[in-house]
Amino acid sequence: MNCPSGKVQFRTRESAASAIERAERRGTTCRVYRCPFCSAWHMTSKPLAAFAHRLRAPALKRLLDDLGRRIALELFDVVFTEAFEEALERRTQQAILKLVGVKA
Ligand SMILES: [Zn+2]
Repeated sequence: MNCPSGKVQFRTRESAASAIERAERRGTTCRVYRCPFCSAWHMTSKPLAAFAHRLRAPALKRLLDDLGRRIALELFDVVFTEAFEEALERRTQQAILKLVGVKA
């Protein structure tokens, strides 16, 4: 199954980590994350939004499913690749955090 994010999929955290080692030898700082859409591992060079540490993937996936595909993909990008706090109004952040069961 292809991922709606369009990113390269790794079946295991270990295989993603090897790809990251190669990227870091070229001077790029990366990290791996488990994708809530396809359950594979992806790599990104974007920093992790602070709140994403505390999100449980199933709760996030439910939220994104409810929002609809187009909005979900936009939020997906915010959650995993942008600074959440900078991208959304405080009120919106709190609504999302409440929905996914994270204490703000
Ligand atoms: Zn994915």
